[in-house]
Amino acid sequence: MRMPSVSVSQHNQSRSHPFGMLILYCLWICSLIGLLSGAASADTLSFSAIQDPENLARRYHLWEDVDRTATLETLPPADSAEWQHNSAGLTNFGLTHSAYWLRLSLSDLKQLRSEVYIRLNYPHLDEIDFYLLSDGQVLKHLATGDTRPFASRETQHRTYLLPLSADMPDSIDVVIRVASQGPMMLPLDLVSQVSLLKSERPLYTWFGVYFGVLAMVFLYNLLIYLSVRDNGYLYYLGYVAAVAALQISLNGFGFQYIWPASGTLNNTMILLTTGFLPVAAITFVMKFINLSKVGDRGDNILSWLLLSSFGLVLLGVFVSSYGTILKLAQALSAAAVVYGFYIGVKYWWRGLKAARTFALAWFVYLIFIAQFLLDVSGVIQPSILSSHGLEIGSLFEIALLSLAFADRLNAEKELRLNAQLELNQNLDNLVRERTKELEQAYQKLKEISNTDGLTGLCNRRHFDELYLLEFQRAYRDQIPIALMMLDVDHFKRINDTYGHFVGDICLKQVADVLQNVLRRPSDLVARYGGEEFIVLLPATAPQEAHLIAESIRAAIEAHIVLDRQQTIQLTVSIGVMSACPSARDQHKMFQKQADTMLYQAKHGGRNQVKVADRLEVEGSI
Ligand code: GH3
Ligand code: MG
Ligand code: MG
Repeated sequence: MRMPSVSVSQHNQSRSHPFGMLILYCLWICSLIGLLSGAASADTLSFSAIQDPENLARRYHLWEDVDRTATLETLPPADSAEWQHNSAGLTNFGLTHSAYWLRLSLSDLKQLRSEVYIRLNYPHLDEIDFYLLSDGQVLKHLATGDTRPFASRETQHRTYLLPLSADMPDSIDVVIRVASQGPMMLPLDLVSQVSLLKSERPLYTWFGVYFGVLAMVFLYNLLIYLSVRDNGYLYYLGYVAAVAALQISLNGFGFQYIWPASGTLNNTMILLTTGFLPVAAITFVMKFINLSKVGDRGDNILSWLLLSSFGLVLLGVFVSSYGTILKLAQALSAAAVVYGFYIGVKYWWRGLKAARTFALAWFVYLIFIAQFLLDVSGVIQPSILSSHGLEIGSLFEIALLSLAFADRLNAEKELRLNAQLELNQNLDNLVRERTKELEQAYQKLKEISNTDGLTGLCNRRHFDELYLLEFQRAYRDQIPIALMMLDVDHFKRINDTYGHFVGDICLKQVADVLQNVLRRPSDLVARYGGEEFIVLLPATAPQEAHLIAESIRAAIEAHIVLDRQQTIQLTVSIGVMSACPSARDQHKMFQKQADTMLYQAKHGGRNQVKVADRLEVEGSI
């Protein structure tokens, strides 16, 4: 088979013309305008007039092999109208089952000073067959594509390169067959070795920066996770890893460096990483918003539905065709991004502050992913922004999500702090209340332990404490102190006559009378045991004490205890000791003296008062 090879000889001729350069320049401008306007250009491309790199999109003819049965021998003749000139310069023909055949003619190969490549600049084409023909004879056949091992490429490169050099015939025809289950992207150009390296540099720089940023974000958030142990971070790390994995497989780096052995494995990896990303994204969204706790039932169901769909798609990778799974995975990915955005906006609206940045992150990603999907499905022609949309979008998104996380941490910290404050306040109040209660209980206990249960008077133990203090003060200040011992006369008889219960009533009433007579706040009355009472009168001289004792005696004598129809009359005998203490430790002796006086009162006939103004043992004071 012979391809038409018409050398563009005008170009060569015009060189010798004085206006040659000008005309060449005009032609170049025209070709540029042609490029821009989509006009067709010449069939044969001469190496004497090419750019580096030279875009071949408008240079080739195209034939669609609908049932994929054609071979090089059965192709329509080159002059057949079935070959369409790609005058629009399309590079994306969408998803198709057809095989695409491209042909173009090149001349003036002898002028090549270094190796140049025909480059098919899309790493995901399944099968590519490059044929180099001269005078209808096949000079070379290079069978490659990403379903074939990476080593099938003559030049080890992410994209597909057919080398051309000056030792080839001066005019050659290039025929390329492409079949792929993924999008039929055919960005074809001609590029010199130098220019290839140069053109790759920004790309590799870009990917270097891209993966560098991803690695940094990953490490940074890993450190944060290790310090705060918030499980949400694990999901975020999973998501960042999924984004990186998808990019590694989509851009051909995985095939070139990680799994070069098999093209089938490469396709599987692309599908798995495409399907895994939304799974990571959805689980992350659920965890970030804490959907299982704060989310609506509907949103939870939606999340699980999406997740299980992706689970099915991931399983489908092993049973269904690449094209079908890719389409499904891409459609569901779009749904997942819309879902992320929807959840973000909804819970932001509900007052979840951190969801604001979160929603923005998904919105930005949504825009880039939409562009990318339109690009790969052939709806729009590729641009830098659309073909790198996934990467750019993911960078923006990951950075914004990182911010959203910081937001969430802050919000949680605030909540925790407020809760802590409230807890402290409650604890404070509780402690204050308990202390008050304890104090009251303590006071009560003290009162109980100091009080006589029957009469409500101070008991003996407490009296002894207070008496000691008061006695020492009297000694220190050298003032008199009076101590009075009282005993109810013939009390045994009362008990025997009226019963113990009435006896108790009598004791209570004696106590009441004592309290009524002794009105000075400093006076202290106590029940000393049985029917004995003791009275302390600070700063009281013997005469004064005598008068008080007498008034007590008289008051009790005058008091009638009423029990049912009977009246009971009581009398008391009182022994008094009143003097100014001459030694600090005389308190016991004072008490003993009062007791002796009581004994004398009893012996003197009862119902009387006996007063001492000195200690008998000591003689005189
Ligand atoms: P005296 O005039 O010599 O003091 O005669 P008395 O009967 O009062 O003396 P005694 O000490 O022999 O008796 C005291 C009685 O007081 C004996 C006891 O049963 C009674 N008594 C002691 N404590 C209580 C009490 O708490 N309630 C009642 N009802 N009686 C008590
Ligand atoms: Mg007695
Ligand atoms: Mg008695």
